[in-house]
This record gives sequence, structure tokens and C-alpha cells, in this order.
Amino acid sequence: MNMKLLHNELIDWYELNKRILPWRETDDPYKIWISEIILQQTRVAQGMEYYMRFVERFPNIQSLADAEEDEVLLYWQGLGYYSRARNLHKAAKIAASSGLFNMVQNSSTLYEQLRSLPGIGDYTAGAIASFAFDLPYPALDGNVYRVLSRLYDCEIAFDTTQGKKHFRKLAEELLDRERPRLFNSAIMELGALHCVPTAPDCHTCPLNTWCKALANNTVELLPVRKPRPKLRERYLEYTIYITPERTTLIHQRKGNDIWKHLYEFPVQEIHSLEDAHSGYSLSAPHNAASVIGAPAEVKGEKILELTHVLSHQKLHARFIIKNVPELPKIPDTVVVHLSDLDNYAFSRLTLRAIEFLAQR
Ligand code: SF4
Repeated sequence: MNMKLLHNELIDWYELNKRILPWRETDDPYKIWISEIILQQTRVAQGMEYYMRFVERFPNIQSLADAEEDEVLLYWQGLGYYSRARNLHKAAKIAASSGLFNMVQNSSTLYEQLRSLPGIGDYTAGAIASFAFDLPYPALDGNVYRVLSRLYDCEIAFDTTQGKKHFRKLAEELLDRERPRLFNSAIMELGALHCVPTAPDCHTCPLNTWCKALANNTVELLPVRKPRPKLRERYLEYTIYITPERTTLIHQRKGNDIWKHLYEFPVQEIHSLEDAHSGYSLSAPHNAASVIGAPAEVKGEKILELTHVLSHQKLHARFIIKNVPELPKIPDTVVVHLSDLDNYAFSRLTLRAIEFLAQR
């Protein structure tokens, strides 16, 4: 491979085709870090809104470090993968007190220090080091794995330990060490816009001279990933108590489970939505499949059933909306007016139920 020529072709393509994105217009490591964490598992269009709101409220590392976790979660609400927000907050406290982002730009220890922070893996450390400080570290996201798999016609599953090691080596060899910031931006953008999962336009690709998958007619077979584990099915039954004064009960999730520290309505986990539930007796025969996504009225109560898919779990949720003269005493719950629910961070699933309440 003529590396110099490849770098030039790729970077020229990038300069002509790149999207204008706010986190590309800055070399502030804090803002780059925020954008990278938000964009993991999130589309750019959705991530953009969150990014703008987040950096407006927390414009620098100190403001994030000083914030309460509940408020950080509120700004993350709806994005999912809430451990990202909790880790971001923890890492901001550590980095603010150590002055990490004030380090001299060519510090050889920067990458390792970034890597040691909660929630920062090889990808994010490489992205911050290269985008903010122009340091020669690769940044392998899903788009880059796809480009590399095809460029080298590599059938190793990129999401295995062996695959990660192998692709990192390839990325280090390919990296333009004189222009790491530009090179990383360019290869990521090529994967996002041009070397797309299906039917990429290889004839106009700046890398087609070097692409082994194109030569071997294996483009559509790549990249290879390890088989996904089966989703774990869970069944949750929520009760939304509503008094005539429009107050209700919520509680904060604790323990090491999904949605840690987010709020929700009182809930119990059951074996199936067909189970007897929460002491409520539904007199009408109840067919869960028939009411998914649509409320049904049973004995004066509203029932809303929703399914919600997370990365490893499929949740089947039933929300029983129960009008009561006064709220029951349930440990660890707080009383809140329905109009004040905006002040608490909820999972997307619970937000869907709240949206339904607002339409009633
Ligand atoms: S030639 Fe096609 S498969 Fe190869 S890198 Fe370009 S777009 Fe991807």
C-alpha cells in the first residue's frame, strides 16, 4: 500500500464531504469527550440535541463535576445506557480535581490517564487524544471496524478480544501519524457516509484502489461480528396511583440493575404478564397481545402494556393506572404532583407511560 497516497485520497474526500458538526468545530477535550459519550449507541441527529443542551448547562468540566447526579441524569433522560451518564459524572469529578485536561498537549501519559477514567475505553481515549490534542492514537468505532474489515478483507469478528487486538494493530499501521486528527475524522466519516453496511458505492470510494473486499467480492459479507446472545425476557408491573389532587408515588431505582438511580412508579417483577398481579383482580379475560401499545379499561382502571428492548433485555411492562382517594404508604417512595414529574429523570419506558398520562 502506498500509505501517503491513501492518506491523501481519504483526507481529500473528507474535506469535500464532511458534515459540519459542533464537536468537530472545537478542540476542547471536554466537549469532544461529551460528544463521544453521547454518540455511543445514539444517532447523530438525536445526539446533537442532547449535546447542545448538555454543554449549555454544563459548559466545562468543573460545572459537570459540581452538579448533582440527579441533574446529570435528567439531562440524559431518554438517551438510554444511563451508566454512560453516571460514569461521565464520576470521571468529571476525577479529571477536574487532577486537572487532566490542562496537561501539556504532547503528554505521553494522557492516553493512559484518560483510559483509567470510568466509562472511557480505548475508543473514547483515542478520540479525545487525537481530536483534541492531535496525538497519534487510532479511534475504532463501529464505522471504522467496517471500513477496516473491508479494506483488509478480514473475516475476524471485530467484537471479540482477538478481533479487537487484530483491528487495533491494523488501525495503528494505517494511521496518518502526521495528521491523526484529520485521519481519524476522515475514516470515521467514510464509514458513516460512504462505506455503509449495505450497498456502499465502491466505485466512487477514495479507498477503492486498495480495498481487498472489493477486489474479492466480499463487501456485503463484512464486517463479521460474534453471534448475539438471546435477549433476556423480563416482565414488570407498575402501578401509577393518582389522587384527585393529581399526586402520585415514584421511587428511585437502587442496586445493580438497569436504570440505576432513575425514577419510576412502584413496580414489581413478575414471571409473565399472564400472572396474577399485585393483588389486582382483573375480571375480564385478559389477552396481553391484544392490548400491547393500547390502553384497555378494566374495572375503572386504565391498563397500558408496552414492550421495550434494551441491549440485552426485552421488557414487557404493564402500567396499571389506579385512581385512589389517597396514596398508599409504600416505603422509599416520594409523593409528587403529576405536573412536577419533569423534575425527575425516568427511563424511556416510563416516559412513554407518562406521555400516555398527559394525553388522558
Ligand atoms: S471500496 Fe467499498 S467496501 Fe471498500 S472501503 Fe470503499 S466503500 Fe468500503
